[in-house]
Amino acid sequence: MIYPWQANDWQRLQQLRANWPHALLLHGEAGIGKLQFAQYLAKGLLCETHLPSGEPCGTCSACLWFSQGNHPDYRAVLPEALAGLAAAGADSSADASAEKADGDEGKKSRAPSKEIKIEQVRALLDFCSLGSHRGGLRVVLLYPAEALNVAAANALLKTLEEPPSGVVFLLVSARIDRLLPTIISRCRQWPMSVPPFDEARAWLASRGIDDAAGLLAQAGGAPLNALALASDENRALRDFTLAQLAAGPNCDAFACGENLQKLPVPLVLGWLQRWLYDVLAERTAGRPRYFPGAAKALARCAASADPAALSRYMKTVTRQRAVENHPLNARLVFEELFMGYRDIFA
Ligand SMILES: [Zn+2]
Repeated sequence: MIYPWQANDWQRLQQLRANWPHALLLHGEAGIGKLQFAQYLAKGLLCETHLPSGEPCGTCSACLWFSQGNHPDYRAVLPEALAGLAAAGADSSADASAEKADGDEGKKSRAPSKEIKIEQVRALLDFCSLGSHRGGLRVVLLYPAEALNVAAANALLKTLEEPPSGVVFLLVSARIDRLLPTIISRCRQWPMSVPPFDEARAWLASRGIDDAAGLLAQAGGAPLNALALASDENRALRDFTLAQLAAGPNCDAFACGENLQKLPVPLVLGWLQRWLYDVLAERTAGRPRYFPGAAKALARCAASADPAALSRYMKTVTRQRAVENHPLNARLVFEELFMGYRDIFA
């Protein structure tokens, strides 16, 4: 199944069917369902009923194998940390949970690798060198493509330069800026957009989500991330953080350090960055993008912040973001960050 906002992408893609590119790069914002779309596409390419819509029939042997995760002509290559998402027909929050593992919205996982390693790509090359089991296409899904480390990307590049016949690559990426240009140039690019706000809000509401509009705004319009926020175990701490930020010069940095210390640094940095984005939007007569519900507090902060200090502080937070995956003492990092935040109102 694909999401309602992807129907148009699906139809347009099917026009390529007669001349299918050997490598397709699906890219767009995180949390819009690209992974599930790609999985459905893979299933459709392998389906042996060949429906005119290009959709998988769901009942042929190929579809059944695919659903059970053991179609012999299909390989999904994901970082170890995301291995759970490899299952075909992963549940609807697949993209959102992938974001979690990516360190944006979830728990810290230390051990499993977040990279696609060269061994994984080498195993793939073995798969490509064999013939098709079913006499049809063989399909390789790489998710997320930006997780390919340099060695793995270079190994893959060789294959993309001399594509084995009958093998179709589906690369999925939320960060096309992190891909090697040489990889991008070997793929047919397929940008996927964030759905229109009202359509996404209606979809969330149909799933029984309260405050669909507010959550959707916080998620930057990405419906699956909004869905994940709705059931986010950290929702109370997020609300606490937003209340502290709304307090501006009265933000209690030590309380922040104390209460947030168990959370992953990238998660809190993400909240902070979105808040600052909205403060800046208020200053420049824009509209808050992520926290429209906090418009009054944002306007208050925007009015009392020192513009130069705000701009310096935003750079500090961005720098912190660059080192976010390094082991740090979270409590100290948070104390320092929130003290810095208070100082922009000095
Ligand atoms: Zn089928």
